[in-house]
Amino acid sequence: MLKVNEMNAEEKRIEMRLKNKVGILQEEGTCPTCRNFEFDDVYPNDGRAFYEDDKIICLFEQYPRAVGHTIILTKEHYEDISEMPIELGTHILSVTQKIINLLKEKLGAEKVYMCTMCDGKRNHLHFQLLPRFKGETIGSKNFVRERGILKDYEETVQLFEGCMKA
Ligand SMILES: [Zn+2]
Repeated sequence: MLKVNEMNAEEKRIEMRLKNKVGILQEEGTCPTCRNFEFDDVYPNDGRAFYEDDKIICLFEQYPRAVGHTIILTKEHYEDISEMPIELGTHILSVTQKIINLLKEKLGAEKVYMCTMCDGKRNHLHFQLLPRFKGETIGSKNFVRERGILKDYEETVQLFEGCMKA
């Protein structure tokens, strides 16, 4: 089952390089997500999606702040919620509800936090789901916990994939 490991020095270097690369693309006005959709060269290690339809893609964050940290991406480019068609928002919430139930039922999350920031010169509408588990402190610090690296996620991707189809 998927777990989040502390990053070793090499993994931290790779994550830092990725962060820098994304920052440079944003500064020059390129959306890193759209670029990645086209060339697959920004996030080479992003995991396989557990859900995809004609409007959105859902996958586990590779550098998660919690077990089950999920990213929901729109396929079309919108800078943030201000540009998002409301029907798309409704669709995203309906899929989000399914995912939150899975994070609770399959991974044992007690609660799941949701956020969207999409800040900076150029960004791509996405939402983050951050599970909080029993015994973990309640509150906004859960949004900024240290990132780890995702391991052994394929089995959970398959599990979620199957449940999302059902
Ligand atoms: Zn984009």
